[in-house]
Amino acid sequence: MSDSATSTSVDPAWEQVGRFGRFGGRFVPETLTRALEELTDEFQRAQRDPAFQAELDGLLQDFVGRPSPLYHARRLSERCGGAQIWLKREDLNHTGAHKINNTLGQALLARRMGKRRVIAETGAGQHGVATATACAHFGLECHVYMGEEDIRRQAPNVFNMRLLGAEVRPVTSGSRTLQDAINEAMRDWMASVASTHYILGSTVGPHPFPTIVREFQSVIGREARQQCLQRLQRLPDTLVACVGGGSNAAGMFSPFVSDSAVRMVGVEAGGRGSRGGEHAAPLNYGAPGVLHGSFSYVLQDEDGQTAPAHSVSAGLDYPGVGPEHSGWKESGRVEYTTCGDAQALAAFEALAMCEGILPALESAHAVWQAMQLAAERSAEQVILVCLSGRGEKDAAEIARLRGIAT
Ligand SMILES: *Cc1c(COP(=O)(O)O)cnc(C)c1O
Repeated sequence: MSDSATSTSVDPAWEQVGRFGRFGGRFVPETLTRALEELTDEFQRAQRDPAFQAELDGLLQDFVGRPSPLYHARRLSERCGGAQIWLKREDLNHTGAHKINNTLGQALLARRMGKRRVIAETGAGQHGVATATACAHFGLECHVYMGEEDIRRQAPNVFNMRLLGAEVRPVTSGSRTLQDAINEAMRDWMASVASTHYILGSTVGPHPFPTIVREFQSVIGREARQQCLQRLQRLPDTLVACVGGGSNAAGMFSPFVSDSAVRMVGVEAGGRGSRGGEHAAPLNYGAPGVLHGSFSYVLQDEDGQTAPAHSVSAGLDYPGVGPEHSGWKESGRVEYTTCGDAQALAAFEALAMCEGILPALESAHAVWQAMQLAAERSAEQVILVCLSGRGEKDAAEIARLRGIAT
């Protein structure tokens, strides 16, 4: 085993089998091994194929609206009274978040593999909508697994998926939420691999998904790095991103991993407290274990059973986390903190009032952490936040929590 406690980057030999230090891997039934190997090969070929890259770049430009702007949050910085806070505006992407970067890339892979049917899981519905959007663009059949409980809570996204031509399949097992939707999608895939590609929504699951999703999302960090060098003539001092499964954070962080002067902070959902069932922060309060085909930090009870997660933000409400983040935690390359429900709501309000931007509640976790760091730093320091999505989807819930009539 590699000396993960001292390494600062992923050992290429481990990358071959999808390892990040001792984390990652592929813990799946035999029937899926072949499909995952086929996917690994196709992804490696696509990455070396200029035609694939050109088509993806063209779509990211014309369909998604990339590059997303780098924005100086001047009034928010003034309010914190310290470092300068800059935002990478993934909220301005088509469909309102970073998730479309991954679904377009994977839909292109599906087409290359000659697979005409796509399945996906979704919790809050954001990944479901981004997948349905990519499938509509390419004319692919799309089935989205979604827990019955989430279908009830996220009705507008269910409606949008159907408008985009996707079939939403209710999942009635377990807690009837995201975790069960992933299990159900995996079950479908085992029976349908020949004709179907599974578009996973975050840097989780068995190899090669964590690597594929990180690579498709790393357009965030590549653009941000170039934009900082152009506009500020230097790299940012600190990067901050929220961590659910970890895709927007991995996309932001990975192009900066070898810039050892750049500090990186991942923010997990601290929820209502640090006891079991009150948060969704496996890197802070969980333990290593296997969930959804990968070895990583997981929320567990005393018997090693996956424990329930809680966050005010549906997109962070997941008991696991991508294995690369577990690797970065153990190597010390990235620090992982928490931001609670109430603090995220305060950051939502601060960004709305100071900058005229409604952030997604997920992204508000990163904004809150950036505000804390900014207050402790001098005015020359630059803190760059990944604003992973927009907050219109959360406005009604926030109004309800704050007792504002809608
Ligand atoms: C889904 C989502 C997240 C959490 O997912 P990651 O894979 O951790 O990025 C964060 N922000 C927004 C806006 C989302 O929709």
